[in-house]
Amino acid sequence: MKVLIVSPEVAPYVKTGGLADVSGTLVNALRRTGTEASVILPLYGEIRKRVKDWGITPVSGEISVPLGNDIETGRLWKAKTPAGADAFFIQNDRFFDRDHLYGTPEGDFSDNASRFIFFSRGVIESLKVLGLRVDIIHCNDWQTGLVPVYIKTLYRDEFPDTATLLTIHNLGYQGIFWHLDMPLTGLGWEMFTMSALEFHGKINLLKGGLLFADTIMTVSRTYAREIQTPEHGFGLEDVLKERSSDLHGIMNGIDYREWSPWRDRLIPSRYNRKNVSGKGICKKFLQRECNLEEDDSPVIGMVARLSSQKGIDLVADSIDDIIQSGSQMVILGSGEKNYHDILLNLHAHYRGRLSVTIGYDNAFAHRIYAGSDIFLMPSRYEPCGLGQIIALRYGTIPVGRRTGGFADSVTEYDTSSGSGTGFLFQEYSPKALKNTVQKATRLYRSRDIWRTIMRNAMSQESSWRQPAKEYLALYKKTLNVKNRQKK
Ligand code: ADP
Repeated sequence: MKVLIVSPEVAPYVKTGGLADVSGTLVNALRRTGTEASVILPLYGEIRKRVKDWGITPVSGEISVPLGNDIETGRLWKAKTPAGADAFFIQNDRFFDRDHLYGTPEGDFSDNASRFIFFSRGVIESLKVLGLRVDIIHCNDWQTGLVPVYIKTLYRDEFPDTATLLTIHNLGYQGIFWHLDMPLTGLGWEMFTMSALEFHGKINLLKGGLLFADTIMTVSRTYAREIQTPEHGFGLEDVLKERSSDLHGIMNGIDYREWSPWRDRLIPSRYNRKNVSGKGICKKFLQRECNLEEDDSPVIGMVARLSSQKGIDLVADSIDDIIQSGSQMVILGSGEKNYHDILLNLHAHYRGRLSVTIGYDNAFAHRIYAGSDIFLMPSRYEPCGLGQIIALRYGTIPVGRRTGGFADSVTEYDTSSGSGTGFLFQEYSPKALKNTVQKATRLYRSRDIWRTIMRNAMSQESSWRQPAKEYLALYKKTLNVKNRQKK
C-alpha cells in the first residue's frame, strides 16, 4: 500500500504543535511496518534556511497551480526521513518564506486562503510531476481540506483510484474564509452550498474535507464522540454526525526516540522507572535555571500553545492560590498576546516561585518535562494532547481536565488500590483546578504514594506501535470505502 501524508507541519522540519509530531512520527512508523509512506509539506522560510542540515535537495520539474485568474508556480524539494521515507516540500516563497506558519501573535495572515488552497492543489499537481501513484492520500486539518474535494471533482478522472482520509487534529481551526475567495479554489459556485463548502455564508475548507474524504478520523476516541455534540462540534457537529459511520478515533503515540528519560540528551541527568534519582537532579537544574528557590516544593510545569483552548485563563486565575499554597510553577509557551501579557505580569509578581518563558524552545521543553513533579493541562477541550503523554513517560504527574485525549490517556489515582496515573477534574473552573492541584500536591508529600504514581505513569505504553497498526487497518477500510463507491 502506498500512502502520502499531507500535512501543514511535520517534525523535525517544522513544528508549532502536536500535528507536527504526529505527521513526522507516523510516516516513520508506517515505513517501519514496510508500508510505502511519504509525506509532503510547504517549504517554509524556517526550513529553507536549513535545507543543508536536513539534506533537502531540489527535484527537477515545477508545478503550476491555477489560483483564481493567476497561475502560481512551485518548486519541489525532497529529503529522506530517519526511517528512509520520502519527505517532499513545495516551495513558493511568496506564500511560505515568512517568519511564522499561519500568522503572527497579532493574528492570522490575510492570505491564508490563497496559501493553503495553493498547497492543497499543489499537492495533487506534485503527484503528477513526480509521477507518484498512491493508494491513499492522508490529509491533516483544514490546510489540506480541499485535497479530498479536488480528488472527487477536478481531478476525478486523473485519480480515479486514489482514496482519501482526513484527520482532524483540532476542530477549533476550520479554515473559514469569505465567500469571495471561492474563485481561488477553481471549483464552481455549485460547490458553494450547504452540502459542500458553504458554512454560514462563508467558505469552510475543513468542512469540504469532512464531506468529501472517504473516511475521517480524529486523534482520540473520546474526542471522536465529543465532536458530534454542540459543545465540542464548533458548528460542524451535524456534518460529523452524518458521517459517524466513517468517523474513527486513533490515539496518538509519542516518538520514543525523542521522548525517553533514559536516553534523552537534552536533560541534565538521565533516569528510568527503576532509578529515578536523576529526576531530582533535573528538578534542581530546572529550579536554578528558572531562578526558583531551590527547595523541595512541588514544581508544576506547563508547556503549551498559549491559546484559550489550553485553559490559560483558568491557570491565570489560579496562580495566586497555587503559589501561596507552597508550589512553584514553570510555564513555557507562546500564542495569543493577551496571555503573554497576563503571564508575564504574574511572573514579575512571583519571582522565585513562578517562571514564565514566552517562546518556543524544544530543549527547554524537555527540561521542564524531566524537572517538574506535576504537569498541568487544564484544557477546555483536548483532541489528543501529547503534553500529558510525554509527561507520563517522564514520571511527571498530569493534572488536567477530563476531556478528549487527556481523559483517554490519564487515569485518576486511586488511593485504595494504588492504581492510576494522574488527577482529573470535570468542571471548567479555577476552583476545580485549584482543588485538584491541591489534592496532587498533598499526595506529593507522601513519598511512597508519589513513587507509586510515578511508577504507574512511567509504565504506561504510548509508543507508535499500536497506533501504526490501527492506521494500517483504517487505510484498508478507506480503500474499501473507495472501492464500494466505484461499484
Ligand atoms: P497542541 O497540538 O494542541 O498544541 P499537544 O499537547 O498535542 O498540543 O502537542 C504540543 C506539542 O508541542 C508537545 O510536543 C509540546 O511539548 C510542544 N510544545 C508546545 N508548546 C511548546 C513550546 N513553547 N516550546 C516547545 N515545545 C512546545
